[in-house]
Amino acid sequence: MTQGTDICPKCGSSDWKLPRHVRTRGVTSAATADLNIITCNKCGFTELYELTEEELAPINKKAGMIFIFAAVVPTLIGIGVSIWLIWG
Ligand SMILES: [Zn+2]
Repeated sequence: MTQGTDICPKCGSSDWKLPRHVRTRGVTSAATADLNIITCNKCGFTELYELTEEELAPINKKAGMIFIFAAVVPTLIGIGVSIWLIWG
């Protein structure tokens, strides 16, 4: 992908919106795909690019952090409150 210099195949414009990251999942499969959506500002033509491993690394790291805050922290708080109720 040579973002910024690409010419829209539909209208010839080189004015693209910034890539937007989407994670999509098959209906019958658990496999997911991480894609960048790039849309032409002029005519709305949209291209999909699969993210590279390099681009995915920080996203997966972030997802891991969200998991920790969404699942691990409340569990620890729950354990803490239980101990407090028993011993306090
Ligand atoms: Zn276009």
